[in-house]
Amino acid sequence: MVAPIPAFNDNYIWAICDSSGNAWVVDPGDASPVIDVFQQKNISLSGILLTHHHGDHTGGVSDLLAHFGDDIPVYGPKGCHPAITQPLQNSGALTLESKHHKFDISAKAWPTPGHTLDHWVYLLDDALFCGDTLFSCGCGRMFEGTPEQLYRSLASLDKLSPLTRVYAAHEYTLANINFALIVEPENPELQQYAQTVAAERQQSKPSLPSTIGLEKAVNPFLHCTDDRLQRVLQQQFQQPCPEPEHRLKLLRLWKDNF
Ligand SMILES: [Zn+2]
Repeated sequence: MVAPIPAFNDNYIWAICDSSGNAWVVDPGDASPVIDVFQQKNISLSGILLTHHHGDHTGGVSDLLAHFGDDIPVYGPKGCHPAITQPLQNSGALTLESKHHKFDISAKAWPTPGHTLDHWVYLLDDALFCGDTLFSCGCGRMFEGTPEQLYRSLASLDKLSPLTRVYAAHEYTLANINFALIVEPENPELQQYAQTVAAERQQSKPSLPSTIGLEKAVNPFLHCTDDRLQRVLQQQFQQPCPEPEHRLKLLRLWKDNF
């Protein structure tokens, strides 16, 4: 099972737990909420997966190793944190194992530069841990990469099975929907999703995971090949944007200033 451990204002540290009570965590920006939950539920930490170097995704690693044992494996992009024991170098299958535990799960990872240059995502069975690359109804800011890189990265997620569950690292969905409704006011699936998420958030429930199928319907950042988006952007920016990468750049710029 996969469970969110809320951290800071709007981060989720995702914990993936098997039936033996062993768990891996993704992007532990803070150690204390993980330690609290694992103690309450009597769960052992078997490994750590990192998507990129930002402190709100890596800040808890050292304290977790100090608490649970410094022989716990840490997977992540090369150079993203000094504690990494399994640097990600080649796209493809991963074996998730520690000294005491082998995770019986199909695991893959591949690079998705754009938000940062070192960003990677993990697909564990049908669960996608996409860090700050893809959010529900949005995507990460381009701090380091180019629109071309981010476009290719999002395309690598867009082509996954529509049933793939999307575990993004932030609860940004409601704000993203408010922007998406400006861009695509007549998208019926988006309107429906806005109601669903508003009700969930009112009860303080996470809006995640979403699915790739849902994101394809409601997320304007996955609509860059759609000519309807081109028309909206052309009107907003008063410039032609025939290339999907250029549309992504303008859409991101619009959202950054929203
Ligand atoms: Zn980030």
